[in-house]
Order: sequence, then structure tokens, then C-alpha cells
Amino acid sequence: MAEYSGADATVQATNDSSIVSKASTAAAGYFEDAFVGHVAIRGPKGRLIRRSPLVHRCYYVRHLGVFQMQETFLRSCISFGDPYNVVVLGAGFDTGALRRGWPQGLCYFEVDFPAVLSRKEALLRQAQVLRPEWLHSCGADLRDTAEVEASLKRAGVDFQVPTLLIAEVVLAYMEHKEGDALIAWVAKAFPNCFFGVYEQIGPHDPFGRFMRRHFIQRQCPLRALLTNPDLEAQKARFWAFDRVDAADMMSILAAAPRDELMRAFQLEPFDEFEEFHLKCVHYFCLAAMSGTCTKAKRKWADSESSVSLAKSISASVCDVGIPRFGLAASYAEGHLVICGGSGTFNASTSDAPHGRQQSIMHVKLEVPSCGIPTCKDKVFQEIGEHSAAMYCSSTVVDSQIFFFGGRLAPQRPSAGLSICKFGRDGPVVKQVNQGTPWPLARWRHTATQIHLGGPGVLILGGIGAEVFSMQEAWFLDTESLTWQHFSVEPAPDGGVPAPRHSHAAALGSGGVMVCGGLDAEEHILGDAWTLHAVFDGCFKLAWRRALSPLPQPRYGHSLHEHLGHFIVIGGIESTYGPSPVCVFGKPVDIKCHAMKDGEAEIF
Ligand code: SAH
Repeated sequence: MAEYSGADATVQATNDSSIVSKASTAAAGYFEDAFVGHVAIRGPKGRLIRRSPLVHRCYYVRHLGVFQMQETFLRSCISFGDPYNVVVLGAGFDTGALRRGWPQGLCYFEVDFPAVLSRKEALLRQAQVLRPEWLHSCGADLRDTAEVEASLKRAGVDFQVPTLLIAEVVLAYMEHKEGDALIAWVAKAFPNCFFGVYEQIGPHDPFGRFMRRHFIQRQCPLRALLTNPDLEAQKARFWAFDRVDAADMMSILAAAPRDELMRAFQLEPFDEFEEFHLKCVHYFCLAAMSGTCTKAKRKWADSESSVSLAKSISASVCDVGIPRFGLAASYAEGHLVICGGSGTFNASTSDAPHGRQQSIMHVKLEVPSCGIPTCKDKVFQEIGEHSAAMYCSSTVVDSQIFFFGGRLAPQRPSAGLSICKFGRDGPVVKQVNQGTPWPLARWRHTATQIHLGGPGVLILGGIGAEVFSMQEAWFLDTESLTWQHFSVEPAPDGGVPAPRHSHAAALGSGGVMVCGGLDAEEHILGDAWTLHAVFDGCFKLAWRRALSPLPQPRYGHSLHEHLGHFIVIGGIESTYGPSPVCVFGKPVDIKCHAMKDGEAEIF
């Protein structure tokens, strides 16, 4: 940001951050770009700054969306050899002009603040990249449409020819009225255009609030987001166009070729599915078309609007004082016991380490006469360790808690088993030595308390070296601490649940109900099955398809049986504004008093 000055410096600096991410994503192999490395801001030793696999995936999906919009325009809006324009509004250091081949007839205009464009030119000159004669640099403030028009005219634009306009995370930084004025000017100035937009939606749910806070901290608030919070409102902004399509990035992903996605998704170890999909539902692509460009072929299905909720109940949330995610938690003998996760070791100590935690910690809960337990002083105490930090399972059987599996880095899954027992002096943790047979290391599996001749824990699915099949199950006899392997028979119609992880399971009267999850191709699943046991000399397990009304496809949720009802809580859905709780497949809107704007943490 030191490179820029004045009131617009912070918004200009958003370009620097975007270009670093684009360069890192290209360097990791997600897409080809021979030029972005020349303009990306470098790290201390002149090296490219490396972003996380999560950032790579998000920029990859952004790339797919913009590429799809370019392709749609090129395939259906121009005629071979005839002149056409590409106008990139808020182009920043984007190298879209140079990165790909363009059919003949192109005039390309990059519009941004003059300070941004002159830095970009200097960097490309330094790298001895020759500017093609069809590429024009148009310094202008997008809030002043007369200035934009004059700048484009000076560069020789022909407003009548088919024009692809792209605004990639630009309108969001402008005041709602300024953006509307720019959109109205585009509609009027370019009678034959395809206006592609990529930016944020969904400001109100916890992730949306987190996203807004992030941009406020970087001093470039998403000014237009609250006035245009969803796809309907975004589409309405483009009323002056003949046709408007819009879809969130989940739909863009769904429209991409499977082979290409699988190639990209296998480039790096990855386990941030929740954050990735939450980002995908909070960003969208919109294509507004007019004149001869209205015939552009639709590439993606419009996203569905979020479900409207019938019923509201109220809940108050008690902050337990250790902000972590990916942890396992159980309640037994009056204690809340947590294991692993990523976050702080103990929020009550300021120098506590932050990151993946292997500790098992407990707090004794107060149960007042109203019956709702609270953690009074919120001070957790460490009682031991489990071999893996993230996404292990935690299951209560006969007043003992069994922790199984989990991972450190995604390449380091665990098959560790630890037990928490409650003695006279409080909880004690011990680790169990691995024998044979023993299930393979995994995380994001389910571990359900069940009785098969004796009490125990049933392990299903999960992810390790690969996504585990649901045609096998492991049962831990919690008295002898021995494991038994089961082949689970298909349902009477021959069906079996697809291999999955991040699903949920709970024991009901008909057996173990399993629902949702992510399959090996990262599709969000919406099916539900029950696994029931039959005794025929020995125990046999078989699947049955559950046909009752199901919640929307989701994963990362939990499932509970209560008085004959299955209750689904939380998880990630493929649409913006998910309802957190479902009872019998019906969404119930929980009003959480503790979730207000301005709160520090989302987990
Ligand atoms: N589209 C680019 C850059 C995104 S960052 C990319 O995807 O990589 C946002 C860009 O919009 C910055 O380069 C910023 O300078 C530009 N921008 C924001 N408001 C602007 C305005 N009022 N006038 C000109 N450019 C603006």
C-alpha cells in the first residue's frame, strides 16, 4: 500500500493482494498464466508469495467463472474476423489480456485508477513484455462515468461493436449509487454488450459477517453488499439490460467439467472443505446482456433462492471460551470434554499457542435448576493428548469417552484410540496400544455408540488415503477394546450409500441413521440410510434406504436422536443462508441471541 497515496489507496491496494493470490494459484498449477508472475508483488527475498491451498481453490473457481464468461461471449456474441471489444473495469494488474489467445478483431481496454495502471505498465516494461497494439490502458475513476467515457474514447473505442465488460470484485468497493450509475452508463453506452460481474453476496449469515469484517479491517469495506445482499437484488441492479443470468460459485463449479475439477483438486493436499464451500456460496457470477449479445448461451444454471423457513425457535448460545474448529466434543458425567481442533489452546492465557491442538481438555459444567448447563468460569483444564488434532471422533459409551482417528496435516491421518474415564479425582485420559485387527487411519468419519452383543462404537466412512467405502464398518467392543470388521450388505433394492466423509450418524430405534456428507468427487450428499443389525448366529449388518423427508444436502453437520425424532444441526449446504437445524427434514430457524454483528469469532 506504500505505493499508493490518497483516499483511494486502500481500495487500490486490494489489487496487490488479488494479484499475489492469482500468481500463487497459477504457480501451483491451477491455471496457466505466463505473465502474472511479472506483476505480482514479491516477498522479502524477491520470491513469489505463496498462498494456502484454500486461497488457490477460491481463485481457481474465480478463474473458472471469468473464463466461462469470456468463452460464452466469444462463442456466441462475435462473428469471425469482425471487430469486438473487451473492457475490464477495475482491471488492476490482471493479466487476462495477455494470458489467453483472443480471436481476431479484438480491442482490449483496461480501466483503473491511473496510479494502478502506470505501476502495471512499469512492471511489464521491466519484464520486457511487449504491449500488443490492441491493448489500451485507460486511467479513470469509475465513479465518474464521464471520465471513463472520455478515456475510452481517447483510446479509440467503438461503442457499437459487441463488447465484453468484466468487473471482477470492483463494484462491491463502490457506494451502491456509484455502482448503479456505472451499470446504467454501461447499459446506455454499449448497446451490444455482455457485462460479466464476479463479487460477493450473503452479508448476513456468520460467514458473511466474517467476510465483511475482514474487508473493514483492510479498510476497504464492501460498500455495496448490504444493499445488494443476494442474487435477486444483484440481478435487479441490471434492470436496464435485456437479460440477466446469475449463479453462485457452487453452480459455476457444478457446470465445470468433472475431469478438469478433479485435476485441479488433486494438485495439493486439501481439507478445508467447509471454508471453501462457504466462500463459493458467498461469491457469484452475473452476466447482463443487451442487443446482439442477448443470445449468449447459458453456461450455468441459475442458483436456487434459499428456502424460506416456516418456524422459528429461540436459543441462547453460551461461549465456551475456546475458539476452535474441527474439534470433537462430548458431555459425560457433568463434564464437557473437547479434543483437538484448530484455534487457541486456552483463550484465558494471552500467550497460548494458536494452531492445531492435540490436547484433550475438560470443564465441569454447572447445571442450575432451569436445567441448562453452562460453563461458569470457562476455564478448561488439560487432561491429556490424542494422537491427532483435526476431525477425530468422540463417543460416549457407559460414561467413558472414546476418541478415535483424526489427522495432523492432511497427509498424516491417525488410527489412534484414546479413552477418557471419570474417576474420583476427575477425568483421566489413556491411550490404547494398537493391535490387530485395527481400522485404517482416517478422519471426518462417524463413530456411533451401539450395542452389538455388548456395548461399543461403530465407525463408518471418513477420509484417509482415500474416501472410505460405506460397505464396510468397524466395531470397537468397548469392554475388551478389540475391533471387529464388518462387510455391510446392500439394501433390498441393491443400493449402498456412496463412499463419504463429513456425514453424520446417530442411533435410533431402527438402527444407525446416516445422512449427508461429501463424496469422493466433493459433491454434497442429501441421502439418508439406516444400518441395521440382524443376529443370525453372528451379527450381520445391512443398509436400508431412508425415505422420510430429508434435509437439504449438507455435510459437516451433526445428527441426534431425541424422543424418536432425528435432529440435524449445522453443516454446510450448497446455497446461501442455510438453516442450521432440521427436524424430520423440515428446516427450523434458530434465532441465536449470541450471534450479532460485531462479534469477534464465528466458530
Ligand atoms: N479486477 C482485478 C483487480 C481487483 S481489485 C482482479 O481481479 O485482479 C479491485 C480493483 O478495482 C483495484 O485495482 C482498484 O484500483 C479498482 N477500483 C476500485 N474502485 C475503483 C474506482 N473507483 N475507479 C477505478 N478503479 C477502481
